[in-house]
Amino acid sequence: MKPVIALVGRPNVGKSTLFNQLTRSRDALVADMPGLTRDRQYGIGRVGEFGYMVVDTGGLSGEAETLDTLMAQQTLQAIREADVVLFLVDGREGLSAADQTIAEELRGFNKQLLLVLNKTDGIDANSAATDFFSLGLGTPVPIAAAHGRGVNRLMERVRDLLPEAEAREEDEERWPGVRIAFVGRPNAGKSTLINRILGEERVLATALPGTTRDSVYVPFERDERIYTLIDTAGVRRRARVHETVEKFSVVKTLQAIEAAHVVIFLLDARQGIAEQDAHLLGMVMEAGRSLVLAINKWDGLTQDDRERVRMELSLKLPFLDFAEKRFISALHGSGVGDLFGAVQRAHESASADMGTSLLTRLLEKAVTEHQPPLVRGRRIKLRYAHQGGRNPPVIVIHGNQTDQLPGSYKRYLTNYFRQHLQLVGTPIRMEFRTGD
Ligand code: GDP
Ligand code: GDP
Repeated sequence: MKPVIALVGRPNVGKSTLFNQLTRSRDALVADMPGLTRDRQYGIGRVGEFGYMVVDTGGLSGEAETLDTLMAQQTLQAIREADVVLFLVDGREGLSAADQTIAEELRGFNKQLLLVLNKTDGIDANSAATDFFSLGLGTPVPIAAAHGRGVNRLMERVRDLLPEAEAREEDEERWPGVRIAFVGRPNAGKSTLINRILGEERVLATALPGTTRDSVYVPFERDERIYTLIDTAGVRRRARVHETVEKFSVVKTLQAIEAAHVVIFLLDARQGIAEQDAHLLGMVMEAGRSLVLAINKWDGLTQDDRERVRMELSLKLPFLDFAEKRFISALHGSGVGDLFGAVQRAHESASADMGTSLLTRLLEKAVTEHQPPLVRGRRIKLRYAHQGGRNPPVIVIHGNQTDQLPGSYKRYLTNYFRQHLQLVGTPIRMEFRTGD
């Protein structure tokens, strides 16, 4: 699983600026899907080969009275769940009392910690740094987040503090079959569904602890196929032991999404689609995971209610058209069995092999049926296509002036490939190359 990096510091030191730098590569993916929103607090990023999860805590202000607000609680949770804490200070303003308070609080967590001196652009970083030696957290790492300066070096320092990346990845490959994560807001019915599934199926091993934090991997068999269920902490037991909603952890949810092949996303039919759903779905799409939508608590709804939910789905989440929708009752079991067919179809689509000649032929047909636009009098040319990856499928298209292709044409091509290759349940990534 990806290591978790928490950004901590008083307001205005540049946490969200650094957050954006660290997660920039994923920006474009969700921006293309109206209805989904990017969570500005939790993100995934990578520098070179090094992938990580980053949390902008926003919470610790260094002022005592804010400490029992909900925000502060979330901050504390994020720090507890972090592998490395980056404590940001402002090189222009110098050391403040709030910095000292935060340093004191952080000491209690006993986490790997780096002091980061931001806004070093246009100032003498070395002399600014001396101001912060008294915090007792070592020499600060200088950066200028707004200009991306020092960020790669900072991430090298982070990497040095962590166990080897290969060890983490091998861990995931250990789990057999299709890995499924159950994602949804608190109370959507995740634990009810998981308990029902595991109650019916042959569990191959009992609760095996996962790598990080307290996620649990449960391999089980159904219709002679093997799956591994990724259970974020506590979900599986919650139906028995009462736990509060605050136990819900975005960090663990994101990690389960990253570790999964297919996400079963639970929506509560009685609650409608809320902002948190859009955030979580945005994370699933950013990660490029296959998706099955399970609209739960379908039991006891009137025809009118059902109609309203169907409408809301197509209005609010038009870009999730590709995902199969199953209307289920985790409580009574109806529709639950059907989820697995949808999971299989999504997984097969996501990992399909697509030959260059097939893709190129489809591209030619798509272009014949609907020409790309002219740019300054010249027609954009699309020449050939090949597969650039799986899980999710990546289709690479080569041509001229491909950087001028409008979004609407890219969507046309995506839909064309989706239909003709019969890909369901998986997002498709299109990449465009100009030249040769
Ligand atoms: P946060 O409250 O800690 O999330 O801080 P923000 O990321 O919102 O940044 C606060 C202000 O500092 C903004 O006006 C940023 O543009 C500015 N800022 C952030 N990083 C840098 C930097 O590296 N250099 C300079 N000069 N300004 C920065
Ligand atoms: P989680 O927070 O997502 O794990 O949600 P839980 O599984 O704890 O369920 C939250 C509440 O919804 C519990 O009171 C469940 O009994 C109830 N619930 C879950 N699934 C269904 C369902 O299909 N129908 C109905 N009517 N209630 C359900």
